[in-house]
Amino acid sequence: MTNNSNAKHPVKACLVCQGAKLYYLFSILDHRIVRCDDCQLLFINPQPSDDELSRIYGAGYFLGSDTETGRQTVSEIKQATARLYLAEICRYRGSKSGRLLEVGCGDGDFLVTAEADGWQVTGVDYSAAACEKARRRLKNGEVLCGELAPFRLPAGQFDLCVISDVIGHVRSPLDFLREIHRILKPGGTLFVATPSTDSWSARFMRQKWMEFKAEHLAYFDRQTIQTVLFKSGFQGVIVQPGWKILNFDYIKMHFERFPVSLLTPVVNFMARIMPRTTQLRHRRIAASGIMVFSRKAEVRPQQVLSVIVPAYNEANTFAALMEILVRKELPNLRFEIIVVESNSTDGTREIALKYKNHPGVKLILEDQPRGKGHAVRTGLKAASGDYVLIQDADLEYDLEDYDGLLEPLVSGRAAFVLGARHGGHNVWKMRQFTGQHGLSLFVNIGHWFFATLINVLFFQHLRDPFTMFKVFRRDCISGLAFECDRFDFDFELLVKLVRKGYRPVELPVNYRSRSFKEGKKVRMFRDPLTWLKALARLRFAKIDPMRVVEQSRAAVMLETSAGTGNPKT
Ligand SMILES: [Zn+2]
Repeated sequence: MTNNSNAKHPVKACLVCQGAKLYYLFSILDHRIVRCDDCQLLFINPQPSDDELSRIYGAGYFLGSDTETGRQTVSEIKQATARLYLAEICRYRGSKSGRLLEVGCGDGDFLVTAEADGWQVTGVDYSAAACEKARRRLKNGEVLCGELAPFRLPAGQFDLCVISDVIGHVRSPLDFLREIHRILKPGGTLFVATPSTDSWSARFMRQKWMEFKAEHLAYFDRQTIQTVLFKSGFQGVIVQPGWKILNFDYIKMHFERFPVSLLTPVVNFMARIMPRTTQLRHRRIAASGIMVFSRKAEVRPQQVLSVIVPAYNEANTFAALMEILVRKELPNLRFEIIVVESNSTDGTREIALKYKNHPGVKLILEDQPRGKGHAVRTGLKAASGDYVLIQDADLEYDLEDYDGLLEPLVSGRAAFVLGARHGGHNVWKMRQFTGQHGLSLFVNIGHWFFATLINVLFFQHLRDPFTMFKVFRRDCISGLAFECDRFDFDFELLVKLVRKGYRPVELPVNYRSRSFKEGKKVRMFRDPLTWLKALARLRFAKIDPMRVVEQSRAAVMLETSAGTGNPKT
């Protein structure tokens, strides 16, 4: 190869986490698909050459562009989908006006819809033909032809950026998102629609999935999209199934263009027998993708770890724990220690009060004990760190394990880490018991029972789902509401994070179990029953992050209006 534009682009490190362990999975039309062993991202390696990509993105790239009726059908469908997206974006943001940028705007269907909705719109697209068409359709909006970065748009000018089916097409998703971060206003919204490898169509069709194609350079799922957003400075991320408005005509066009053995003949057969009116009817379908909402966060010079310490009647160990904690240092991380003291009767409160004016400690005093779960939830509300670690006020766990637990989070390889007390393959990290061997056996059988139950119910392979050491990016809990007050909160946190799409990474930690004599607070018979009930409820409860976002915004507005002297309604 003599011409640069004809050369393939080899990728040496993962596009999201920069990991170097890339494993070959399979090939699509001579393109190798690899998986990053660290963050699990799937992508094409080497990437196709510039020439090959421009051939693909030629004039006939957009579906239905060869006939007038085809164009009409596709345009109607895209505008209906645009209205759906705009309604959801409005729920997330709480307002529906301002400056909107769409990157990859194509013929401008989304921009036209948004402009009619009151947005001041700007579009960017690579295709000159598409830009020309989009310009003709807009009243006031402008359209820039080319790639986003070279325009060097002024920083902080957009309220909303929309990238629909674009993030998988760019050579470097991180650089692309960082550029969008730069041009958004502080707190500005980013909306991403993209195919997802954990959608039902991907699971069902596997290697034959219609989204595996040469121009899709990276394949995200619910977890990897959140990792790339976190790394490029976005927070408040919630992921929803990717609803689109489709009709049968559109689906048929798609399967003619990208044939799938078995499915294409079925679609053609249905086209012959289905009444025409049914074929044209618009339907809301969640097929192969996800919708992702996030907002621009400030980039801090140093990342922060929030350590939440729920403390209730722990006078024997609390002082020692705090001494270690306030002295603890981790490379490149600042500590924010949040003590939630629940009005202990054994002197714990007095010890806690000594840290009232300590610069690294936020002290929250509860007027009465309402359970460990309640205390942790209170601490979570006060946390401002990039990462959260929950630290019991006893000394059953070894604080020297912090470094190892945080490494996968800080490097971006994981969003959620559990410290497993069973040592894994590491024989030096063992669970140790002191006395009361019969009781220990009973506790261990219970542990085994509940761990198995959780693994079966939530499709996991966890050794120690009940560890206190749960460390996660604080953003993982956006869109989640918690209600458990006692030890069942441990389940609730784990289950809701798993159901939101995070894969917990288990790492071995040191552990010295306390006996009940030493003050272990689990109640032998009542708590397991609470856990069973909680698990059954958590398995089937609906998780609705968008509603949680709306409710918390309403709560903030209520607080603000109360603060300004307006009566609460
Ligand atoms: Zn990776």
